[in-house]
Amino acid sequence: MSMMCKLSGHKWNGCICSRCGEKRDEGHAWDGCTCNVCGKTRDAEHRFELVPKGHLEWDRQRERHILQPKHIFRCARCGKERFEEHEWTGEACQTVCRVCGGKAIMFGSYTREKMGISHRWSGNTCKDHCEICGEPYPAKHVYERIRSEEEHGSGKSYRTHTLYRCSICGHEYWDSYEHDN
Ligand SMILES: [Zn+2]
Ligand SMILES: [Zn+2]
Ligand SMILES: [Zn+2]
Ligand SMILES: [Zn+2]
Ligand SMILES: [Zn+2]
Ligand SMILES: [Zn+2]
Repeated sequence: MSMMCKLSGHKWNGCICSRCGEKRDEGHAWDGCTCNVCGKTRDAEHRFELVPKGHLEWDRQRERHILQPKHIFRCARCGKERFEEHEWTGEACQTVCRVCGGKAIMFGSYTREKMGISHRWSGNTCKDHCEICGEPYPAKHVYERIRSEEEHGSGKSYRTHTLYRCSICGHEYWDSYEHDN
């Protein structure tokens, strides 16, 4: 506090003393939620914006994104956060939030079951799929070895190519293996 302010009182210019810089909690120059002069914030007139991907959380164990029960809005001015429920639209596995675009199917299984949201599988093998969205059923192929071919290069090494085929859906792939001797 300056000598002058001590003797004759502060020279208030709104919320700040123009002589010594002392602040008071009145006379703020509010611009939305923040005072333009001293930087104080109030809980009104925030400018909330949806935080992009703020509703997603990476599940390390399952290696996929989990949808959070709420999405985050953050004030572009002061950083205050607000959480809001998703607004669901659509049916079964095609249920999405009209605000953030998050898919309800990405919820953890407990929440998903509670909401009655799931794929409608046509069966339970690798050739089956969801009748609504076409998602393949998460079943493993049952591969059988069909035939092998040997490919001899120069020198002693050679390569084996083996054809595998899934006995359920017929999916095929070649596997090759390098031999050293
Ligand atoms: Zn002062
Ligand atoms: Zn102020
Ligand atoms: Zn704010
Ligand atoms: Zn949402
Ligand atoms: Zn589906
Ligand atoms: Zn298959």
